[in-house]
Amino acid sequence: MLQNSRSHLFYQTDHPRPVLDRAEGIYMWDIEGNRFIDGSSGAMVCNIGHSNPHVLEAMRRQMEKSTFGYRLHFVTEASEALAAKVSELAWPGMDRVFFVSGGSEAVESAIKLAREWAVATAQPSRWKVISRYPSYHGCTLGALSVSGYDALTDPYLPMMVQMPKVPAPRWWLDGLDPDDPATGAHYAQMLEAQILEEGADSVLAFIMEPVGGASTGALVPPKGYMEAVREVCTRHGILLIHDEVLSGGGRTGHMFAGQNWGDAPDIIAISKGFGAGYVPLGAMIARGEIVEAVLKKGPFAHGFTYAGNPLACAAGLAVLEEIERHGMMQNAVSTGDLLKARLTGLMDEFPFIGEVRGIGMLLAFEVVADRKTKAPFDPAFKAYDRLTEEAYARGLIIYPRRSRGGYAGDHYLVAPPMITTPAQVDEIIEKLTGALRAFAPEALARMAG
Ligand code: PLP
Repeated sequence: MLQNSRSHLFYQTDHPRPVLDRAEGIYMWDIEGNRFIDGSSGAMVCNIGHSNPHVLEAMRRQMEKSTFGYRLHFVTEASEALAAKVSELAWPGMDRVFFVSGGSEAVESAIKLAREWAVATAQPSRWKVISRYPSYHGCTLGALSVSGYDALTDPYLPMMVQMPKVPAPRWWLDGLDPDDPATGAHYAQMLEAQILEEGADSVLAFIMEPVGGASTGALVPPKGYMEAVREVCTRHGILLIHDEVLSGGGRTGHMFAGQNWGDAPDIIAISKGFGAGYVPLGAMIARGEIVEAVLKKGPFAHGFTYAGNPLACAAGLAVLEEIERHGMMQNAVSTGDLLKARLTGLMDEFPFIGEVRGIGMLLAFEVVADRKTKAPFDPAFKAYDRLTEEAYARGLIIYPRRSRGGYAGDHYLVAPPMITTPAQVDEIIEKLTGALRAFAPEALARMAG
């Protein structure tokens, strides 16, 4: 049964959707019994799979004790335990945790803490937050101001201060070698040039995703980039914010994707896989000295009502325990490598697949009208949407986005839960192959034309 056409609900699209009945592991069923593979973990959220019994039990136990304790009235055992666990998993010195209920809230919090730090440390001229283009950091006006995704920002431009942007290191479009350290240095130099153009003492922070999500389709930074960016920020006294809302939570083989490279940021924003779909949960994690400077000056003038509620924190803690107990991050790497190899293998049959990229279970492929030049399809063809619907019709969910900044380009994230098995990779590839074969005739005709 499809969603009632006279539904009172509305979101972004008018695609009718089936009514969800239940979900378990990597599968979801609608109320008519049709089964779907959650090939994108929702929106890269359900990292440990659906209906994990340990998480459900931990939530049940917490619910019987208390579901809410306002953060200015109580701390709770669950929020203390989760904050301690998250600090232990992050880099040394990143030991202060501020809970929120989602990714946009985490990003807003990071930007505002950075600003409070500048004010507290007698640097009030610093307020600009440089980010990358394309990028997506959330839908609130503050998070949008650092997002580079025109289709989402354009309607709101008069209502916000657009922050400066530098190119995301999309080496494949620029014809550069990702294994050459000069490539990483090239993009970091663009950041430094932008800092100098703005005036270094006006720049507060640089925000970036260590591994790209929806806007870039699993962009993996080229060699040398992460180290060079860290060095540029430090040299100019600029805070480095890692937006790990999508890349965090273990699917790249580390709890934080930035740990694949080593250098620590100053602030991290996390959400999505942190609550893993069991509860709305997010956090900002910051270096202790940043928080201490802010709290010494006065209160951090920021906060959300549901922050740190015990139910969300108990669920978040159980999620982290399950990831560790079952070696899910290791599986994300080994099965993710297999999935990436199988996706890459599809390029033999489908010449419009221009690129497969990503790391662990955070993978994407992009379709193009010309594999050599990477020219995108005519945007009106809506390749991102068509192929996704073909996959959906076959019971496979993938996550499409425009790859070239919001209006053009077509990529699809393939990011199933970290518990996916090699046999389930076969199932994903089989369904995806069927969808690509249905999509192929028109795509091939458009390539030729
Ligand atoms: N940051 C990144 C990198 C994201 O991918 C998203 C959501 O897709 C957000 C922030 C915003 O998160 P939320 O939708 O939970 O507000």
